[in-house]
Amino acid sequence: MENKGVKLCIFCGKPVEDPTMDVCKADASKAMQAMGKKGGTTTKERHGKEHYEKIGRLGGQKVKELVERGKKGLVEEKDAKP
Ligand SMILES: [Zn+2]
Repeated sequence: MENKGVKLCIFCGKPVEDPTMDVCKADASKAMQAMGKKGGTTTKERHGKEHYEKIGRLGGQKVKELVERGKKGLVEEKDAKP
């Protein structure tokens, strides 16, 4: 069975609402922890290296997004002030 246009969480296999994510919201923090600690042995054993790298990329994208958002916020705030 294929769900076209619907990504499945690499942790629990449930459909992911956010198309930019590879994990569901419930597992997003797990993914962040996994790449932050670099010692997600459980994840590594369960999903293999490829999946682990996938999480890494996902994390990078998310961080980039947050940084960009932060920059915009700062710029807008600056511009708004006299
Ligand atoms: Zn999940």
